[in-house]
Amino acid sequence: MDQKWNGGTNNGISRLASCTNTYATQNFQPVWYQGPPVTNGLEATNLAMDQFTQLIRDNGFRLASPAKIDYSIPSPVTSSTIRGETSFTQTRVALSFVINPIQLDRGELTNITFSGSMFHAWLHHAGFQDPKTTSYFISEAPMCVMRSYQIKTPTSPDSGFYQFFD
Ligand SMILES: [Zn+2]
Repeated sequence: MDQKWNGGTNNGISRLASCTNTYATQNFQPVWYQGPPVTNGLEATNLAMDQFTQLIRDNGFRLASPAKIDYSIPSPVTSSTIRGETSFTQTRVALSFVINPIQLDRGELTNITFSGSMFHAWLHHAGFQDPKTTSYFISEAPMCVMRSYQIKTPTSPDSGFYQFFD
């Protein structure tokens, strides 16, 4: 937000938006969206971050149902990490999650992995849809977070990241 705000001009390009713009080519629009077509990852990132602001505002002002964190142990046990449902409305969306405690207890997984998984779940709440594979906005934006906005390298295939998306 600070990077986009750019000292008050609100025309900056965040590292997240820049990275996502490089890699995302599909599914730029949330399901509730009815404006002019969103044609690239930069526009999609800005739209998504505005939508998060709306959802966090709604939650803070109690305009949405209280957010809950439930847990569920799936089968197979690593088939889910942090799950959020795709929302079909622009406002009053509860920011609830279902987490898999077995995944969270795995010592070899890092916080940035969980950040990516949570961001993917949040993008569902913001109205963005799977598939959760290469080139789709709902994958590329969280993968940019998980790579700390660095470029992709052959030694870290996308599947190693999006395996933690639900
Ligand atoms: Zn998903």
